[in-house]
Amino acid sequence: MSAPDILEDPPLQLYEKRKSVFPQKIDGTFRRLKWAIMAVTLTIYYVTPWIRWDRGPYAPDQAVLVDLANRRFFMFGIEIWPHEFYYVVGLLVMAGIGLFLVTSAVGRAWCGYACPQTVWTDLFQHIERWVDGDRNAQIRLQKAPWGPAKIARRLFKWSIWLVIAMATGGAWIFYFADAPTLARDFVTGEAAPVAYGTVFVLTMTTFVLGGFMREQVCIYMCPWPRIQSAMLDEKSLIVTYKDWRGEPRAKGLKKQRGPDELWGDCIDCLQCVSVCPTGIDIREGPQIGCITCALCIDACDRVMDKIDRPRGLIDYTTLEQQQLEEQGKEAPPAWRYLVRPRTLIYLTLWAAIGLAMLFAVGTRSRIDIGALQDRNPPYVQLADGAVRNGYTVKLRNMQARPREMRVSLVGLEGGVLWTSEGSRELADRDVVTTVPADSVQALRVFVAAPGEGAEREAFGLAVEALDDEGGADSDEIYFDRPETRR
Ligand code: SF4
Ligand code: SF4
Repeated sequence: MSAPDILEDPPLQLYEKRKSVFPQKIDGTFRRLKWAIMAVTLTIYYVTPWIRWDRGPYAPDQAVLVDLANRRFFMFGIEIWPHEFYYVVGLLVMAGIGLFLVTSAVGRAWCGYACPQTVWTDLFQHIERWVDGDRNAQIRLQKAPWGPAKIARRLFKWSIWLVIAMATGGAWIFYFADAPTLARDFVTGEAAPVAYGTVFVLTMTTFVLGGFMREQVCIYMCPWPRIQSAMLDEKSLIVTYKDWRGEPRAKGLKKQRGPDELWGDCIDCLQCVSVCPTGIDIREGPQIGCITCALCIDACDRVMDKIDRPRGLIDYTTLEQQQLEEQGKEAPPAWRYLVRPRTLIYLTLWAAIGLAMLFAVGTRSRIDIGALQDRNPPYVQLADGAVRNGYTVKLRNMQARPREMRVSLVGLEGGVLWTSEGSRELADRDVVTTVPADSVQALRVFVAAPGEGAEREAFGLAVEALDDEGGADSDEIYFDRPETRR
């Protein structure tokens, strides 16, 4: 290769320059579905912290609350304590399996419809259309030099984005404290600094990710598309351009292009590209930029209606369907691919974990007991020959009301117990105490038993709730006698 040849080589580009995307407004079945899902998801997000739930005078009345200060998670009628974190793990496992289920059945439907990045980007794009106009007007404005009109439009649009972004960050902190109180404190400047910091960070991330980075997040930052490609198989529904039907494509209507057999149905109108929120051309095949939002299906169906050709040139299809249709064979309808062994296994697993968790939550005891034996001294020899051991007993009351409980000895023949507030003279086989609402009460408990016996004897401490609801728990522990130290 000669020197001039080398000089003429184009410079090596490691990164492709970003192409601005100006998605065109579209209406259709999938667009309306996206509207509906956007309305539901945003309503759930913004409204949930304001729903009240009566749990009595001893517990917060917010339906969904992550109470970090008291280490509790409230969700309507369910209260999760720190030692029950496995329920949260169970919910996360269910969310994971749910995503596997959705992906194996309908591809990246999560990305296309319900992912927060998609929902907020979609919302911001609607604001953009409202302020700047549709695709062509946006392109014109983008190319126009900066002047008062362009600056005014930009500032107006960014202000609306900022308000939405602030509402988003603001709604998030209401999940972690009583929403009405925090809202008042926030406005009057009396909220904790961490609340302002969290709102600021979430406002800026929503503003930047939803307003400016948009599809770049899906294509370059999010790991989910890479994982999803490993979860798709030949029976997963994905948005597909049926090239066997559309090619060879040519611009213009068929009647202007010559006989039918020479041309496919695609008239190269680029409507599918214009409406795509990630700016890709689905006719180039499945690609990581496709979030399966199906807006290109809406666009192409309208074109097919206009040129009097059957809908579905771009459609939800499986690889298996594509191969059958390409061979001119009849393919099963798309819905048949939703019910197959793989999706049924995911669904069964998901439902089994959900049912097991519901059963565990419904039957769990709302009290428990834990005992820790004193190690120094392990025992005390009493004047009458009996031996005394000391314990720290923790009684947990997980209900939002004080509860009377009986703590009793199980086993340890001849043994009696009393608390630090009682005395040996009044000691018996059990003791009754009241545990405050929604708390753990620590009791100093002493147990005395005859000096003759095993050096280390196992026995139980049982707790039983004395109200109508009832409930019981027990813990096994040891009683030491002097012989154990010889
Ligand atoms: S919208 Fe349909 S007809 Fe138009 S370019 Fe896309 S695939 Fe071809
Ligand atoms: S190619 Fe179609 S389905 Fe994929 S992101 Fe673009 S519009 Fe949505």
